[in-house]
Amino acid sequence: MPPLNPSGRFAPSPSGDLHIGNLRTAVLAWLFARTTDRHFAMRMEDLDRAQPGADVRQLHDLAALGITWDEPVIYQSDRREHYRTVIDAMVRAGTTFECFCTRREILEAPSAPHAPQGAYPGTCRDLTEAQRDERRADRPAAIRLRAEASSFSVHDVLHGEFTGDVDDFVLVRNDGTPAYNLAVVVDDAASGIDQVVRGDDLLTSAPRQAYLAAMLGHRPPEYAHVPMVLNRDGARLAKRDGAVTLADLREQGVDSGGVLSMIATSLRMADDGERVTLADLTDRFEPSKLPREPWIFVPRG
Ligand code: GLU
Repeated sequence: MPPLNPSGRFAPSPSGDLHIGNLRTAVLAWLFARTTDRHFAMRMEDLDRAQPGADVRQLHDLAALGITWDEPVIYQSDRREHYRTVIDAMVRAGTTFECFCTRREILEAPSAPHAPQGAYPGTCRDLTEAQRDERRADRPAAIRLRAEASSFSVHDVLHGEFTGDVDDFVLVRNDGTPAYNLAVVVDDAASGIDQVVRGDDLLTSAPRQAYLAAMLGHRPPEYAHVPMVLNRDGARLAKRDGAVTLADLREQGVDSGGVLSMIATSLRMADDGERVTLADLTDRFEPSKLPREPWIFVPRG
């Protein structure tokens, strides 16, 4: 196989239309990749919560902002057998275990000494084969990682060296769906992704994902977790906050160029109302000058 091109990516969940916060993250991911001579990949994280047609609308909106990608869009739902292959190898290698706990049992279990807060308490980690057989009769098992570390460090362009918790996180849910943390690692490695730019709500997931990547023999990517877009109450922006999608804003008379201009202004890369293209932004992009605080977006009524 030819070597993979170093690449950045945007990986939305096609659960509805992208809002201006998602679009801003996509613009940043594209700028980070293009200003470092990387390819750019688009991946639909559609293993659950997919809404029919949302993928096409999302891609259309991204293209309307000028975002380009080099290879065909990857759909996680087409890649189930790849996740299966990786999991089967991990099960054979003994780096996983079956877990029968309900969410409630996990919350109610006493946590292990020195374990990170909220970490899996280890209930099913050392079940005997007989105990597993008994539990299998009750409910299907999830598959968890048998983690050998309780923390891991990643390099983030905006956050520096970031160390976070690692625990026995779920790799395959008990309905057989590959968990996000598994799919993201398998897919990033398979596509040559060596730069992951996404919202900073996922910063604390990065050590788990990088740990898993390293365990699977991949070099963890470089990260840039960018500030989120929040509503006036300081909560994560959502569709119910008003006119937040490209289609909503178009109805208010703001075309896609106008939306790009709003995004650029929020990133302090354009003056208020200045029309810019992504090519202009490529020339102006300086990661060290990016705002570190969230953008509060208040839709016009
Ligand atoms: N699909 C995730 C989301 O839309 C992003 C995953 C990632 O970038 O790693 O929040």
